[in-house]
Amino acid sequence: MDLGIAGRRAAVSAASKGLGFGVAQALAAEGVHVAVCGRRRDTIDAAAVEIGHDAVPIVADVSNVDGAAGFVRDARAALGGLDILVLNAGGPPAGDFEHTTVEQYVEAFELNCHGGIAMCYEGVPEMRERGWGRVLAITSIAVRQPIPNLILSNTARAGLTGFLRTLSREVARDGVTVNSLLPGLHATDRIATLHGSDADLAAGVPAGFIGDPGDFGRVGAFVCSEHARYLTGTAIQVDGGVYGGLL
Ligand code: NAP
Repeated sequence: MDLGIAGRRAAVSAASKGLGFGVAQALAAEGVHVAVCGRRRDTIDAAAVEIGHDAVPIVADVSNVDGAAGFVRDARAALGGLDILVLNAGGPPAGDFEHTTVEQYVEAFELNCHGGIAMCYEGVPEMRERGWGRVLAITSIAVRQPIPNLILSNTARAGLTGFLRTLSREVARDGVTVNSLLPGLHATDRIATLHGSDADLAAGVPAGFIGDPGDFGRVGAFVCSEHARYLTGTAIQVDGGVYGGLL
């Protein structure tokens, strides 16, 4: 299916590997011009080569608002404008209430909430002016159901989700959609770090297997597509059926 977004321009943060990379790759395969960032020159350059389609590699740290907004500015300059913004960052450290300090919440908020908000402030106004835009955030299944021992992630992503839901209603009339995807378990370095590479995680997934960044990326590309123009304000889990709630 042609997603109808060939020629659009996308900034995908935190995309040298994992889920951000998966979304960038899927968008590029649809003919979207993408700019991607990570914190290291060598890995983001290699990722851009693998993505192909003249993907633009940018070194940026999105764990603070200056770095996050700066990435969007650099991506816009490189691509000549922005139509699609994919908000992603690394995950915060694991830990429960007892082993997490008050200061760590501020860092997690900067990484998984404030940085994404800063990217929207930098990128959404031009989408509204143009009358077309897509904002897609990569959050976590923790938004639906908090994950034990990930209190920082559970807390920060709830804040970003509240912001996105509010923003979606304000900009819908301007042709800008705002959605988030909630990954469950996908085979990435983050999951290997949290659970160990030998853990039998697939046993707990109704689908019977762990997703990969491509599975996630293709869903992301659809949410950014022309066909998804009436989809906004949603938070969609991509988890092989792990989440067990009714809604
Ligand atoms: P990953 O495999 O660890 O990849 C993280 C990516 O983010 C890398 O490209 C990394 O590149 C980049 N990055 C990290 N911190 C950054 C920063 N401050 N500024 C710019 N780039 C940064 O992680 P992932 O599994 O793809 O996860 C992506 C997001 O989804 C994370 O927030 C994670 O917690 C969340 N999530 C993932 C899953 C899953 O199943 N994988 C489940 C739930 C939630 P550099 O290190 O080179 O900067």
